[in-house]
Amino acid sequence: MFATGVAAAALTGGVLFVLPNGASAAQFPTFGLPFAAGQSTGSAGIHSDDGTSGVKNALDLNPDDGVVRAPLAGTVHIQHCDGGDWVTIDHVDGWRTGFYHMEQIRVSEGQQVEAGVELGDIGNALPCGGSSTGAHVHFTIWQLSASAAERADNPIAAGNWDDVSYGELSGKVADAVGEPMDGKVFGGWLFNEGAEQYSGTATNQASSEVVELPGSFDYTG
Ligand SMILES: [Zn+2]
Repeated sequence: MFATGVAAAALTGGVLFVLPNGASAAQFPTFGLPFAAGQSTGSAGIHSDDGTSGVKNALDLNPDDGVVRAPLAGTVHIQHCDGGDWVTIDHVDGWRTGFYHMEQIRVSEGQQVEAGVELGDIGNALPCGGSSTGAHVHFTIWQLSASAAERADNPIAAGNWDDVSYGELSGKVADAVGEPMDGKVFGGWLFNEGAEQYSGTATNQASSEVVELPGSFDYTG
């Protein structure tokens, strides 16, 4: 009886310790990279949305075939500005990915996509501002964990970013819901930010190969 009581107390202690941690942050899903496996990509490294300030929640990619694909299943939202459109996808548990500078966008508002579905081509589009010096996709992550009440009176928390400028993405959007690229894994590559904008490393989890960014690496899938 005494031994059973001790075991039960220990188990209860363990559960109490684990639950608050588990509830504090949405677990990061198993994402692929946003292009087809079996090719290499260049990457300018980890940076903020405007490349000067704010949470470093973005990565530039220019895969060899130039085609951007959904890195995980989700629901497409088209964000509109005077200069055109760009694409975000809402995934499980409030995770959102963004795809800026794309041309020939091939998805539409509300579309349900599976991983690997073509979203468009890498490009130099500037629908809401910003700049681009060569065709690529600016790939960003956010965590939209707002409550229903917060979403009701806050368009940023609700994920409606129509007419939000590229600069505002690095400011008020990143402040509210930006999620650092640092420590995240996409397609078996672990990304870590560097001290500067447009820097960092990609580490292959299977081979332990470390690629300094800017640089290029292979997506074996
Ligand atoms: Zn970028």
